Amino acid sequence: MDIFPEATNAEETLDPPDWADVGALSHRILDDAIAYLEDVRNRPVWREMPAEVRAFFGAPLPRSPAPAADVYDDVARNVMPYPMGNIHPRFWSWYMGSSNFTGALGDFLAAIQGSNLGGGNHAAALMDSQVVNWMKEMVGFPASASGTLVSGGSMANIIGLTVARNVKAGVDVRERGVGAMPKPLRYYASDQVHSCHRKAVEALGLGNQALRRIQTDAGLRIDIAALKAAIAEDREAGFRPACVIGTAGTVNAGAVDDLRALASVAAEEDLWFHVDGCIGALIAIAPKNRSLVAGIEQADSIALDPHKWLHAPFEAGCALVRDASQHRNTFAVTPEYLESTPRGLASGEWLHDYGLQTSRGFRALKIWMALKEHGVEKFGRLIDQNIAQARHLTRLIEAEPALELMAPSTINIVCFRHRLDGASEEKLKAFNTEIMLRLQEEGIAALSDTTVQGRHCLRVAIANHRTRRSDLNLLVTEMLRLGREIEAAIPV
Ligand SMILES: *Cc1c(COP(=O)(O)O)cnc(C)c1O
Repeated sequence: MDIFPEATNAEETLDPPDWADVGALSHRILDDAIAYLEDVRNRPVWREMPAEVRAFFGAPLPRSPAPAADVYDDVARNVMPYPMGNIHPRFWSWYMGSSNFTGALGDFLAAIQGSNLGGGNHAAALMDSQVVNWMKEMVGFPASASGTLVSGGSMANIIGLTVARNVKAGVDVRERGVGAMPKPLRYYASDQVHSCHRKAVEALGLGNQALRRIQTDAGLRIDIAALKAAIAEDREAGFRPACVIGTAGTVNAGAVDDLRALASVAAEEDLWFHVDGCIGALIAIAPKNRSLVAGIEQADSIALDPHKWLHAPFEAGCALVRDASQHRNTFAVTPEYLESTPRGLASGEWLHDYGLQTSRGFRALKIWMALKEHGVEKFGRLIDQNIAQARHLTRLIEAEPALELMAPSTINIVCFRHRLDGASEEKLKAFNTEIMLRLQEEGIAALSDTTVQGRHCLRVAIANHRTRRSDLNLLVTEMLRLGREIEAAIPV
């Protein structure tokens, strides 16, 4: 008689009963994935999902098993044909990278190896630190600086702004909280600052009003004289000016603040100097344009975004802090269950001491593999290429009487609109929005829209290693066609 009947029958695992079956399915998935990327240019950028696809996502929690091949078929039918579109050569909405195959393999291998980057003594942890070191090198930070890989730019900015708060609070804010600060802190950024900073100051307990939006000049860069005046006014009123946020590449129009001037203001006024470099920090590796971000190396902290101009598959952001001890002092805690040991698995550095997460994914591998394969110089050239493409589009717009440039374009973002003779601003907005939606719905190109200096415009952001100039030529031709069609259909 079997005295442990459950031991042989009831113990389960997620591993497959037969690894050979898994191999066949996996090879099919890989072949499909390669074909998917090879063919991306021939598919629509985006398409609306039919009702049956939407309904598919209403299915209830599965209770019984299904063969893995059937599960994959569901994904192949309902998910893969309806992407956001940002891997397509004519996707220029908002601001995203376009991913890359090697990075995707990195994500796969990271999941296979399965390491948790909370820290410890293992290879993935060393690679995580190595990638942070490479980021420091790219932006000209000293080797003594620290950093951490996070989910994206929003989290990277929160890391920088949190260190700034703790350093400038005038009290042990970790222990006593913002209520104990002798004076309320003030942060400064241009009126073009990304919305994640608002969330950051709110989450930090400083409140949205603690972030003063400073007016911008004609180039949409922070007005330095207005900044100085605001700092003086706040000191007078009993606030403590604590931090200035420079933006290297604003999300609206790609303006790059004068980072050198901001570094001097920060030094004179004893402010923390944070750079939101989610778009532009990596211009520092682009040989033709790197002078645009000169001064970034003087920052106290930088947020950058490998899932934008390094095209890492989502998610990958990075926060860098010049003074590693200030960084660590903001986040480090050692609970009894995470004490280090002199040898063994727990003898490595605890990477969770540099941010808010405890468990962390192995984000470094996808960045590491793509950087090793192509080398940093190629990524720099691709950044220059996108900026040159934006200049090409700018010239096309300037040469086309039906189109109008709406903001100066310094990097890879172009704001423009289709003209409509005699139309009000409201009508122009409706007309251009219709052009944008038809471009999406016809699968031609994905653009987004914004408002710059009070005027609505369409916006092309080229952070895309697949875009060619011919794609931009096509955009202009198709916009003119749609303009004619819509104008004919809707009386002005
Ligand atoms: C994209 C962006 C962010 C936010 O980064 P996520 O990676 O989307 O979280 C912040 N600031 C700027 C200037 C950006 O372009």
